[in-house]
Amino acid sequence: MLTNDQKQRYSRQIISPSIGEQGQEKLSKVRVLQIGAGGLGSPFSLYLVASGIKELTIIDNDTISLSNLQRQILYNEKQIDKDKVFMAKETLSKLNSEVEINVYKDYVDDKTIRKYVDGHDYIVDCSDNLATKFLVNRTAIEYNMKCVISGIKDFYGQIMTIIPRKTACYECVFNEPEKFTSKEGPLPVIGVTPGILGTLEALEVIKTTLGLPNLENKLLMVNLLNLSFNSIDLVKNERCVCSVSH
Ligand SMILES: [Zn+2]
Repeated sequence: MLTNDQKQRYSRQIISPSIGEQGQEKLSKVRVLQIGAGGLGSPFSLYLVASGIKELTIIDNDTISLSNLQRQILYNEKQIDKDKVFMAKETLSKLNSEVEINVYKDYVDDKTIRKYVDGHDYIVDCSDNLATKFLVNRTAIEYNMKCVISGIKDFYGQIMTIIPRKTACYECVFNEPEKFTSKEGPLPVIGVTPGILGTLEALEVIKTTLGLPNLENKLLMVNLLNLSFNSIDLVKNERCVCSVSH
């Protein structure tokens, strides 16, 4: 049951025929693990927390620098050199104190990611590197968590949603490189690109929860130079890791 405060806070969602009080109650039970608190993670966490989920756990190891502020809209000039996750928690808790925000300053790799998966329905990639995207995908499959992965560069982005064992996964679509180059140096990016793709990641969590049309078995490719949004249909690869039973 929604409280009177919740009915007021989420009133504009509740009057949507696609959401209603029932949909809002579904959202209020969702627990999300967010990997990365940068360009994608900023709008993702802001919109998701505003929408009224139950719990958001954020993992990131970075501190805030001046060059982040062009796109990482969770942060401001006063927070330079501070840890991203703690500043994120401060802002997000002020936005919606009803949502439980857990943050961990940690580097995400094969071993550490397992510490945080418990009790989450979704794992969402808001990272800036390919190795983490493959890791998030494999973790989603192993722990049976719904998953959204996005990547951006310059004016371009792509995004897909994965329901383990049911839909195509990231590895069904992309071949994992034999070796990840450690650091390619900074990629070009216009701040609006992660703004839009991170927002779409939040939308995917919301729509997947509500059973609305989403990016399952689809890869959405966004080109913000000519403003085209094209999705291609994906087919699950029966020889992929996601089809091998665990
Ligand atoms: Zn797969």
